[in-house]
Amino acid sequence: IQATPVPYATVRFAPAPLLPDARRSTMAGMVELVLVHGDITEQAVDAVVNAANSSLLGGGGVDGAIHRKGGPAILAECRKLRASHYGKGLRTGAAVATTAGNLPARWVIHTVGPVWSARDDRSELLASCYRESLAVADELGAQTVAFPAISTGIFGWPMDDGARIAIETVRSAGTSVQRVSFVLFSHDGYAIFEKALV
Ligand code: ADP
Repeated sequence: IQATPVPYATVRFAPAPLLPDARRSTMAGMVELVLVHGDITEQAVDAVVNAANSSLLGGGGVDGAIHRKGGPAILAECRKLRASHYGKGLRTGAAVATTAGNLPARWVIHTVGPVWSARDDRSELLASCYRESLAVADELGAQTVAFPAISTGIFGWPMDDGARIAIETVRSAGTSVQRVSFVLFSHDGYAIFEKALV
């Protein structure tokens, strides 16, 4: 039997066999992982993930780009969320959705990555960003989600370790999202993700 050719850097895999809760029982059965060398703000997907900070009021890097291109509607919703639920800030590893404003996506899922520390292992918090973002995507009914390499910019996480955690966590998440894109801004980042995918 001849295998169907799979596009470059696209990997299909079966999800974990256990379905721990009702939400996960709706999953379609296969998740496709795609690598993109590009800008997260240009992804035409259901949800783009923002590497936000806990204030939800914007910042540099991905956060700055999303608010700049997405326009004031995103910040307005972030402010409302802050007032209603996150007065002390969104905790590290958690995720919450807003409109995507003028971006070519339906939602922005804001998640707060951990700042890299050589002293304590914060991997579980970084994994939580990917897991919680996918759980929010499932609640929204999003089928396509684009992630940046969370924490690997201003927050200083080494790209190779960040890539490993991103890929392992999405692979084992048990989600009904059908396609997850990792959008890497730099050529180096793309190459590191590509290596981590195999
Ligand atoms: P963090 O504060 O979580 O480290 P950053 O936004 O500083 O988040 O960076 C996360 C990663 O996203 C870095 O690897 C950075 O190079 C990359 N990045 C920055 N801008 C964009 C963009 N517009 N699209 C995709 N990736 C981006």
